[in-house]
Amino acid sequence: MLLCSEKVSRTELGAVLKRPIFFYKEYLTQRFGAPVYKVSVDAGMTCPNRDGSQGVGGCTYCSNPSFSKNSAYDVEIESQIKQALLRYPVGTKLIAYLQSYTNTYAPVPHLRKLYSKVLQFPGMVGLSIGTRPDCLSEDVLLLLNEYTDRFEVMLEIGLESFSDDTLKRVNRGHSVADFYAAVERVKKFAPKVKVATHLMIGFPWENEAFWIESARLAAQLPINMLKLHNLIVVSKTVMGEEYKRKAFPLLSKTDYMRIAAEFLTHLSPRISIGRAFAYTTEEHLIAPDWVTDARSFHGELEHYMQKNQLYQGKLCILPA
Ligand code: SF4
Repeated sequence: MLLCSEKVSRTELGAVLKRPIFFYKEYLTQRFGAPVYKVSVDAGMTCPNRDGSQGVGGCTYCSNPSFSKNSAYDVEIESQIKQALLRYPVGTKLIAYLQSYTNTYAPVPHLRKLYSKVLQFPGMVGLSIGTRPDCLSEDVLLLLNEYTDRFEVMLEIGLESFSDDTLKRVNRGHSVADFYAAVERVKKFAPKVKVATHLMIGFPWENEAFWIESARLAAQLPINMLKLHNLIVVSKTVMGEEYKRKAFPLLSKTDYMRIAAEFLTHLSPRISIGRAFAYTTEEHLIAPDWVTDARSFHGELEHYMQKNQLYQGKLCILPA
């Protein structure tokens, strides 16, 4: 199994963590010497867990419009980026974020055209690509590796849970072993490509001990960034229909904050945090209510951690 035992000493930790959480934004500022902003780009992709090649119906909680701010298949990529660039002064450093669906799920020539097109815009210093463990062929990885001399390239490989039972129940269409194998393939064929993953907290059949154990497992992975999500039930999803038939318990804001803080104390401080919560709009939300009003969550979480003398990595123990 692929393990990372790279340690950060307490002294280094003090230097790295000026705040209780090592946010990805801070990493980017350190790396590029200036703030870097993400520009979401909808590349009009689909997902093998929806089109029948891997599964149908998609993950039971998934409704891309509920979390993707920029669903606009009919809008040309150039127009999307030009529009987004208007929001930033000339010279701003930007990362193009291919978020919706599976952005490595296409023939290599198509992907080459797509990535090159996105990266040609002024200010682009990198590419962040949302994808699945089963869509990272050797050819795609070799292509991505080509960009790493000039750009920061990040693959966000969804995992969501370290439980195969959960992955089956939510119809992810891949196993935990598939995820490990994907990370191993990235390290082999695209060693300079950074890796991120997503984990979800709140599936009602999982529990707190399991989520903390998940932080320990994530700490051992050779990943650079992690996004932690609270489970949100949204409309137009299988889970949404299940919830309407029979509501199941979801975490309150207080419980999620406490668990997220504990999760972070067990996570390695070398892994930056892309985000520590998810939200959606009222238009899409079924439950829980608190998530539509959670934009200040990161600040509140840091305040909670400071108050309780917690910081990312405080209880992280990596194998010798
Ligand atoms: S969450 Fe990702 S992998 Fe699952 S159906 Fe949605 S786009 Fe596909």
